[in-house]
Amino acid sequence: MAGDRPGVHPAPDGRLLGLRIDVDTHDGMRDGVPSLLATLARHKARGTFYLSMGPDRSGLAVRNLLRPGFLAKMRRTRAARLYGWRTVLSGTLLPARPIATAFPVIARRIVEEGHEAGVHAWDHRRWQDSLPRLPACEVVSQLDRGREAFDRIFGTPPKTYAAPAWLTDERALAHQEKLGLTYASDCRGEEPFLPVIAGRTLRTPQVPTTLPTLDEALGGRFESAGAYFDAVLAQALLQPWPVLTIHAETEGGPYAADLDTFLGKATRAGRRSVTLGELLAARLATGTPLPAWQMGYGEIDGRHGRVSQPL
Ligand SMILES: [Zn+2]
Repeated sequence: MAGDRPGVHPAPDGRLLGLRIDVDTHDGMRDGVPSLLATLARHKARGTFYLSMGPDRSGLAVRNLLRPGFLAKMRRTRAARLYGWRTVLSGTLLPARPIATAFPVIARRIVEEGHEAGVHAWDHRRWQDSLPRLPACEVVSQLDRGREAFDRIFGTPPKTYAAPAWLTDERALAHQEKLGLTYASDCRGEEPFLPVIAGRTLRTPQVPTTLPTLDEALGGRFESAGAYFDAVLAQALLQPWPVLTIHAETEGGPYAADLDTFLGKATRAGRRSVTLGELLAARLATGTPLPAWQMGYGEIDGRHGRVSQPL
C-alpha cells in the first residue's frame, strides 16, 4: 500500500466486523454452509455468502503441485483432510460437480436466515488460475453465467460479487459496472473505496478483505487455529472497517469450533458481525465520500500469487 495515503477513515462507533464467507466447492456448499448458518445463528451474527455457482474443478489444484511452494501449503493446510479426496480430485480424475446450482434450497436458506448472498464465481478454478490469459469475452461470460445462475436460484439478480482469490482486472471491473451492483469485494485492502481504472472513477464501491485468512496463517506464524483467531480479533479491534473472510470448507468444517469461539470473543469485545453491505452502509452514513484509488496488485503472506489491492 502507498505510504503517502492519508489515514483510514475512522468509524464513529467502531462496533462492526464485516464477515465474508466464500463457498468454493460442492462439499462446502452441501455441508459447510449449513454448519456456518448454525454457528452464525448461535451468535446472532450475519455475513455475506459468496457462492461459486458452476462446476467444482477444485481438483485442478493438483496441477499446482508443480508450482514451487504449493506442496508446502497443501501440507500446511492438510488439503486432503480439509477438503476430502473427492474434492481434491474433482474435475480431474472424477467429473466436476456443480456447486450452488446443485443446492438451491441451501442457497435460499442463506437469505431467509438474514444473511446476504452474492456471486463468487461461475468456474472458480478457471478464474483463479487463468484470469490474465482469458479473452475479454470469456471474462464477461464467466461473470454473466454467475449472474444468470444466481437469478435462477434467488429470482433476483445479485447485488454483489467477490472475485475468487481476490483477483480481478480492469475488464472484470468495467463489466461489473454494467450489472447494477451495490458493491463488490474483489480485493485486499484497508477500507471501502471507489476503484479508478484508466483514469475513470467507477461507481461500484469495493469493500476489501482487511484481515489474513485461516489458510494463509496456519502452519506459518500460528501453531493453532485458536491462536490465529485470537490474533485476528486483536487486529480487527484496531481497524475501523474490518472484514474477515472465512471459508465454508474450513470454518464450516474442521475449524467450526474455532469460529464459534472467535464469534463469542468478538461479541464480548463489542464487535457485531455484519454483512459487507451493512458495513458499507455504516461507512456511507458517516457522510464523508469514499476515497478513489487506482487498482493494482500485491502479495500476501502465506498466499501463492498476486492479489488485487488499491495502490
Ligand atoms: Zn474462493
